[in-house]
Amino acid sequence: MPLPMVHAQGVRKHYGKLEVLKGVDLTVERGQVCCLLGPSGSGKSTFLRCINHLEKIDGGRLAVDGDLVGHRQAGDRLYELREAEVAARRRDIGMVFQRFNLFPHLTALQNVMEAPVRVARVNVAEARVEAGRLLDRVGLADRADHYPAQLSGGQQQRVAIARALAMKPKLMLFDEPTSALDPELVGDVLDVMRDLAADGMTMVVVTHETGFAREVGDTAVFMDEGVVVESGTPRQVLVAPTHERTKAFLGKVL
Ligand code: ADP
Ligand code: MG
Repeated sequence: MPLPMVHAQGVRKHYGKLEVLKGVDLTVERGQVCCLLGPSGSGKSTFLRCINHLEKIDGGRLAVDGDLVGHRQAGDRLYELREAEVAARRRDIGMVFQRFNLFPHLTALQNVMEAPVRVARVNVAEARVEAGRLLDRVGLADRADHYPAQLSGGQQQRVAIARALAMKPKLMLFDEPTSALDPELVGDVLDVMRDLAADGMTMVVVTHETGFAREVGDTAVFMDEGVVVESGTPRQVLVAPTHERTKAFLGKVL
């Protein structure tokens, strides 16, 4: 078996006295889509932030692509990563948030080019061609010169996805990417994510879109109060859940 892309074993995280992650176990294989569901406050965003080096874990073990998050292994010794090393690891992980977080003073194309040019030092002409290609891929070739304020929420979110893809990530994290959108704009964003999944991207998607989870997810994970309550195929978890908490939650979102 190849190494999983994400491997969490007993991951713990607390803010002061508040225990947010109480031993999360979760595995995401390469090329798979894991849909993470659960009530507000159950620790889903915190867990994504841990995967993406935005939070340090307080216990357990968390590895991305075989590397322990926050650490470098040399022989049997562990070293804490320096800031530059953390930044380098983060470049391999794309993240899309509920709010689109585009740079308002840059066009769609410039938003997508920004990180390749400034962080990865790709030359501008090359980055522009690639950014155009990515905007085309998310269905926005004709909006390249628009500013975020001139785009709908769904279009902004698709630019945000293109921007994350511009760094050629090996893993994409989505934190409720459609929750802030008007219902009629949700479909276009989910279509882009569906294409990405079909293309083999490894994805962890926090979402309440159970239709998407059933159709696109390879696995579904239900989290509540800082632990994984139930995980399996989307069919198992979403259609025939065995735990009361999962059933109660699905009863509310469906
Ligand atoms: P979810 O994404 O499932 O809604 P979160 O991971 O955002 O859950 O939050 C889990 C819990 O952790 C919540 O009680 C939230 O208030 C708390 N929390 C999240 N981030 C912080 C923080 N930076 N400081 C203190 N508490 C936080
Ligand atoms: Mg959240």
